[in-house]
Amino acid sequence: MNPILTMQNVSVNFPVKGGLPFLKKRFVQAVSDVSLTINQGETFGVVGESGCGKTTLGNAMIGMVKPTSGEVIFQGKNLYTLPKEEFKATRRQMQMIFQDPYSSLNPRFNVYQIISEPMFIRGEDDEETMKARVVELLELVGLSSDDLYRYPSDFSGGQRQRLGIARSIILNPSFLVCDEPVSALDVSIHAQILNLLNEIQAQMNLTYVFISHNLADVKNMCDRLAVMYLGKIMESGSSEKIFRNPLHPYTQALLAVVLDTVVGKEREFVILKGDIPSPINPPMGCRFWQRCPKAMEGCKTVPPEHLEVEEDHFVACHLVNGFPDVELPTNYDQLVG
Ligand code: SF4
Repeated sequence: MNPILTMQNVSVNFPVKGGLPFLKKRFVQAVSDVSLTINQGETFGVVGESGCGKTTLGNAMIGMVKPTSGEVIFQGKNLYTLPKEEFKATRRQMQMIFQDPYSSLNPRFNVYQIISEPMFIRGEDDEETMKARVVELLELVGLSSDDLYRYPSDFSGGQRQRLGIARSIILNPSFLVCDEPVSALDVSIHAQILNLLNEIQAQMNLTYVFISHNLADVKNMCDRLAVMYLGKIMESGSSEKIFRNPLHPYTQALLAVVLDTVVGKEREFVILKGDIPSPINPPMGCRFWQRCPKAMEGCKTVPPEHLEVEEDHFVACHLVNGFPDVELPTNYDQLVG
């Protein structure tokens, strides 16, 4: 295992706008104390419900959102302490594929302008060089040189996502954050785009972060993953181990929804009650306790640590890690499953 990116105790808070001047300033705690490691060449999944902090975490990985605290180490360099020029050069190694292929492409630019723009911004001014590179990438993503002077409105959703992918790899990055890359597309296009991502990864030796709320996609795509809830990681590590033996009640609930297609064997059907609490004022103990069907009294006040329970399998839950000051329920074994 060769780590390409490490996050150490990363938190990202956003100030809440408005409010009265004499009241205490409030913050949205989008990401809270996240530590993880992503290895060279793997696909690392980030999964969770909408609003759990997945996209903010991805943005913090690639220098688009500066963490409030903590460190992001990319290829051995502390990203946010780099001098400006070195930060910009390192940033070019890290790109993002956006969720919405409709709004992420400038409708007034043609395909050549859209895809070559990052090269142009970097300082490239030889039109022939840029054109040759754009045609090469169009062919790589399944389009052709005939598309060079067409506009985004001439393409279907799947084709626009192909354009977005071509643009994201034009500077030969080594690290790509794919933020829900197929969630805005028809189901029939899903597999084609995911296959394309796999082919490009193999060809360019890329490392992916695959952000998704679709566990079936995550299972197919990811070597390792992190399950997020309300800004925190609940369970992380080997994808195979987590899908085979999910230990956190939240992971179990997410998997229960796709029981047959993903897990392939029967599990306890866990239904989550209520909504995700506000990230402005998250619960003080385990962030999941208000919705957890297995919550104990102590879960309300003591935050669980994210600990390794077997090789490359980490869980943040008192039921799994033990709870020093609170007696476990008599049906503990049954609860853990
Ligand atoms: Fe549920 Fe408690 Fe585990 Fe949180 S720590 S997931 S509330 S059992």
